[in-house]
Amino acid sequence: MLIIFGEKESVRTRDRGEFFCRSCNAWRPYAYQIRQCYFTLFFVRTPIPTSAATEYVQCLGCGNHFDIAALRYNPGAQR
Ligand SMILES: [Zn+2]
Repeated sequence: MLIIFGEKESVRTRDRGEFFCRSCNAWRPYAYQIRQCYFTLFFVRTPIPTSAATEYVQCLGCGNHFDIAALRYNPGAQR
């Protein structure tokens, strides 16, 4: 019996908002993305993850990916 298995990447958006993008050097909309790879069997995705989920922030202006900490960056705030 032939068993075909593999891995499929899934990216879902957990949140959206606005952050200060250091690449654009301006306020830009962002998407808080969670990327997870799942084990597939006969090309059907199973709920079994093959690795730990990766969370990142994607700037919708330039498309660059940033660490979640980028959301706390505020150049106008006095600290
Ligand atoms: Zn940007």
